Amino acid sequence: MNRQQEFVLRTLEERDIRFVRLWFTDVLGYLKSVAVAPAELEAAFTEGIGFDGSAIEGFARVYESDMLAQPDPTTFQVLPWRNEPHGAARMFCNILLPDGSPSYADPRNVLKRQLSRASDLGFTFYTHPEIEFYLLKKKPERGELPEPSDEGGYFDHTPHSLARDFRRNAIMMLEEMGISVEFSHHEGGPGQQEIDLRYADALTTADNIMTFRMVMKEVAIEQGVYATFMPKPFTEHPGSGMHTHMSLFEGDRNAFYEAGAEYQLSKIGRGFIAGLLRHAAEITAVCNQFVNSYKRLWGNAAASAGAGGEAPAYICWGHNNRSALVRVPMYKPRKSNSARIEFRALDSACNPYLAFTVILAAGLKGIEEGYELPPGASDDVWALTDAERRALGIMPLPQSLDEALRVMERSELVAEALGEHVFDFFLRNKKAEWEDYRRQVTPYELERYLPTL
Ligand code: GLU
Ligand code: MG
Ligand code: MG
Repeated sequence: MNRQQEFVLRTLEERDIRFVRLWFTDVLGYLKSVAVAPAELEAAFTEGIGFDGSAIEGFARVYESDMLAQPDPTTFQVLPWRNEPHGAARMFCNILLPDGSPSYADPRNVLKRQLSRASDLGFTFYTHPEIEFYLLKKKPERGELPEPSDEGGYFDHTPHSLARDFRRNAIMMLEEMGISVEFSHHEGGPGQQEIDLRYADALTTADNIMTFRMVMKEVAIEQGVYATFMPKPFTEHPGSGMHTHMSLFEGDRNAFYEAGAEYQLSKIGRGFIAGLLRHAAEITAVCNQFVNSYKRLWGNAAASAGAGGEAPAYICWGHNNRSALVRVPMYKPRKSNSARIEFRALDSACNPYLAFTVILAAGLKGIEEGYELPPGASDDVWALTDAERRALGIMPLPQSLDEALRVMERSELVAEALGEHVFDFFLRNKKAEWEDYRRQVTPYELERYLPTL
């Protein structure tokens, strides 16, 4: 055992922790957890804990279902919401095949593979997400409509919210788990919250996002409300995005920064954006993986940005342009290391490991192939007509899960980044979701057609 593993065992004993949860993520981004007694941990570190991979969404074909979960001691964390005398702790796991090789289906491993491609090119990938979600009065029963926990709007202070201390308690709990928060505020929709995490390497960020979702659910329960990351729970209010700021570092130098360049953005930064734009449609299904995700992207297409939508629907970039898919935020002269770009398509229900994988693959491709960055959009692209957008060469993002899957299916970039197994499983699973959705007769149709037809 190495020092980190020994540290974990010692901490368990000192803090009298009786349950250790081993966490991993399935292909669709759902958190899985198996609890082990501390006495089993040594074996888990050295050999891994066996489980039936065929029972996990996207993990294995039935005839090769044995898999092993091996905890990563660097992710050890005591869970603050079970702080009774005999507490609980968690670690994220790497998933292995019986021969000890990393599993092709483990999203964490898929991301690690892409990160090591970046590191072969000399880059570390840093990300910082702005995570939006809604608080509801309660978990809706089947068929019930969601009810927001308050009536607040953007930056409102909401002392009368059902969940008064929600953000304060949530942030304290995140900090206790070693996750630093930069900003938090009430978002545009009633009950809608945003919490922005401090930047970290992309693997840590993805782990942090999984933890974040869990913590928000736990704090919501404590406060008697329900937290949801569904991309668009309300027709009439904005969806929940997960705009993500990103940069590449070479050692401790920000490779996106170049003094004196336009927007202080280096050639590498421009190449990264160009890659994101050229492959934006191909990676959309992974960044926006549910039927409902497209209601967020297109839910405010008719209205302008002022309606509070601000989810991107068109493929373009801009400097401080909040209607653009990629935004280059205002440069802060005292912080050259903070040079970064913001990718705004992601929603709060994506699988962060897979989403970061395809984003990084697209960005690196732009750098490697030297893609030319098209001119930035200075207008509000929602306000333009279709013809005006066409004249500027601005294409729409896919408008439904179906369309996104059709583009993804033909993408070599995504196939290579996800690996054949995850790529095939994802397409199969999501096509089934689309088929299921499109045969439904919805309340909208009944209300609209039954009275007159
Ligand atoms: N809720 C918007 C979205 O879905 C983002 C609002 C904002 O600019 O923070 O992307
Ligand atoms: Mg926001
Ligand atoms: Mg933003």
